[in-house]
Order: sequence, then C-alpha cells, then structure tokens
Amino acid sequence: GESVVVVGAGQAGCQVAVSLREQGHRGPITIVGDEPAKPYQRPPLTKAYLAGETDLAGLSLRQDSYYEDHGIKVLTNERVLGVDRAARVAVLGCARTIGYDHLVFATGARPRPLPIPGAEHVLNLRTAADADEIRKRLHNQVGLDVVVIGGGFIGLEFAAVVRKLRHEVTVVETQPQVMQRAVTKDTAQQLVNRHRSEGVQILTGTGVASVKEGLVELTDGTVLVADLVVAGIGVIPNTEVAQRSGLATDNGIVVDAHLRTVDPRVHAVGDCARFASTITGGLTRVESVQNATDQAICVANAILGSAEPYTALPWFWSDQYDVKLQIAGLTDGHDHAVTVGDPAEGRFSVFCFRGGRLAGVEAYNKPIDFIMARRVLEQGNALTPEIVARPGFDLRSSMQ
Ligand code: FAD
Repeated sequence: GESVVVVGAGQAGCQVAVSLREQGHRGPITIVGDEPAKPYQRPPLTKAYLAGETDLAGLSLRQDSYYEDHGIKVLTNERVLGVDRAARVAVLGCARTIGYDHLVFATGARPRPLPIPGAEHVLNLRTAADADEIRKRLHNQVGLDVVVIGGGFIGLEFAAVVRKLRHEVTVVETQPQVMQRAVTKDTAQQLVNRHRSEGVQILTGTGVASVKEGLVELTDGTVLVADLVVAGIGVIPNTEVAQRSGLATDNGIVVDAHLRTVDPRVHAVGDCARFASTITGGLTRVESVQNATDQAICVANAILGSAEPYTALPWFWSDQYDVKLQIAGLTDGHDHAVTVGDPAEGRFSVFCFRGGRLAGVEAYNKPIDFIMARRVLEQGNALTPEIVARPGFDLRSSMQ
C-alpha cells in the first residue's frame, strides 16, 4: 500500500491516521510530532486540565495501544525540518529521511509573540508543557495576582479557571470589547458581565506597554501587580516547513477546496491550513477541533481516492464557569444579528445573517438551539431576520 507521512501529532494529524485505518488504508502511516506526548486534546488545557480535574492521560486522543494495534507509527520529540517533494521524503534531524507517497501537513499554530519589552516574563498557553508550568504556579501558591493579556477565548477561559482557584485576575484587552472578532455584542457583553460578577477585572481599550518582574505597565499608564502573566493574543500558523519546500503560504498553507496544495501528493489540514472555503467563497483558516477533525477525515478519504471537497459545517464551543457557549456556522462578517431570548437570564441565542441568509448561531446556554442550528445550517433553510425576530420564535418548533 501507499505510505503516508503526517507532519504534526495534534488533533488533525491524529485524525488523518485514524481515519485512514478506519477506511481501510493498508500502507504504512507515520505521524511525526515534536512534542513529548502522543496526540492529545488541547481544549481542556484552559478548562478541566488547568483546574486540576484531569491528567494528561485523560486528554489523550487515543490510548498508546491503539497506535500499535493499528500499525500507526508515532514519533514523538521529532521535528520534520524539511520536505523534499521531488524525492518524496520528509527530512528529520541528523539528515534522517522518511519516504512518502502522500504527505499531510498538520503542523498547527503557535502563540503569536508579544511585541513588547519584557515579553520573556509572559507565559503562553498552547501545549501541555505550557499548561503544566502555569498549573504548577496556580496550584502551589495562594492569592496570586494574575494578569491575562488578551480577552479572546483562551484568555477568558483561563481567567475563569484562575478565579475558580481563588486567585485575583485582570484581563487586559486592546479592543473596546472582549472577543470582538469572535462573537456578537450581546454574547460578549453577557460573558463580560459574568466574569465581572465572578470578580474578574476586565480592562478594555487598553494595551500592555511593557512587562517587568512582578509588574505589568499598560499603555494608559496604569501599573498592575502581577505574580503571573499569561498571554492569549492569537496564533500564527506553522508554515515554515511547507514554505521551504516551495509551497504557497499566506497566513496558512494555501490549499484548494480539496485541502490539496499544488502538489497532488501534499495536503494540509487543521489550524495550519488556509483553504478555499465552499462556505465563505474565499481563503479561510479556522482554529477549532471540528475543523481539524473534519478536514482530516476529508483528506484521509482523498488519499483513498475520494473526490469530495471539504464542505463540513463549522462549529465551536467555549466553557467559562457554568456557561456553555456553542457556535454553529461561520458568523464572522455577518451584517445582521437577532437575539432570541433574554441575555440577562443567561440563556439566549443570537442568529447571525449575511446577505439575508442565516450564517451562524451563537447558543448561550442553549444546547438545543445549537443542535437545531447545526441541522438547519447543514440542510439549508428559509429563516430570515423577520421570522427569527417574531415574538415567541422558537428554533425547534420552527423546524417541525
Ligand atoms: P495542533 O493541535 O496545534 O497540532 C499540531 C502539532 O504539530 C503540534 O504538536 C506541533 O508542535 C506539531 N508540529 C508543528 N510543526 C512540526 C514539525 N515541523 N514537525 C513535527 N511536529 C510539528 N477548539 C475548539 O473547537 N474548542 C475549544 O474549546 C478549544 N479550546 C482550546 C483551548 C486551548 C488552550 C487551545 C490551545 C486551543 C483550543 N482550541 C479549541 C483549538 C483547537 O485545540 C485547535 O484548533 C486544534 O488543536 C488544531 O489541531 P491541529 O492538529 O491543526 O494543530
């Protein structure tokens, strides 16, 4: 059978190998990962894992025996340094090579470096190793002053756990609103209210100017005491190896609607892939477990001969305190939003429209709406802002 090399042992890389075997691929499969652990889930790193409610084994995507039983070779602590596409080999350290018939980039992304003096005092939260370092500090000390740079999903989920562990926490966000790009105003405001009622200080419209041992200085001159500073200001995709192998990169490894590069033997999936989206009609990069998983499944099928493009509906979730935020569809770039339910009650949904068509739904403690929204978005629907705005509108009954 044909041999497959997967570069990156994360959510997407693991799924490529698993799906290949599940779909009957018989050739050799090697996953090369530069972290010490076999593939694990990242979402709990800002949730249950950080809170100390689970260990690394509890995060594993598959048990160690799975890989042996399915003939999947997983190399850990190994980096792919280059890919020679003419010779069809992946190059590891000490000039070792692994030949391939198909190569899949699943290299993920890394934290965006903080462009300020003192950035070396700031911790990131991307890997289990990052989380271990932070977890140690949060669990071994009491009453810390923690500063979070960036009010995105990672920063806010982190802040919620920090409060749970009874430390003081301040979130600093340069934009006027937290999660400005990711969610609607109603959802962001509800989250802010919730964080403030839990005792989190949220400062918006102000940046961090510099960090010193024990201090964070803001652009407005405010100085915050900080025993621990963690940044969550976004990521940059790991594209360097692909770029050096002559492939197009532009905020991601550029692939077509089939997640294929210009080289038919090379695909890219997950956080590192900038793909021609059948939903947005443009080049899109998505950072989510759903996207990593479904793209991996699509590419495994492609390697096995399928000609189907990637069309899966995006969805996402975030847990903060007991708030479960779930998002179906791609809401960014929406031009109209209708909130159904009373945000003050902590249970509502926001329907986001683009050009009069439903683009996505944010379900705030409304799991039923999330499930229904995924269904209507997948099947196509005739929902309009007017229908959704009618008093008593209910997504579930509207479908019956
Ligand atoms: P990754 O999981 O990043 O895996 C890529 C792997 O490749 C990494 O181990 C990297 O070190 C390795 N690598 C890179 N270059 C090389 C190389 N040259 N050689 C060898 N190995 C290499 N998503 C959700 O949907 N819901 C959530 O609630 C959520 N919470 C999150 C919380 C945190 C703290 C983080 C960090 C992410 C969260 N995400 C969440 C996002 C989700 O985890 C990612 O979208 C997903 O992990 C992407 O999978 P991936 O395989 O593309 O990349």
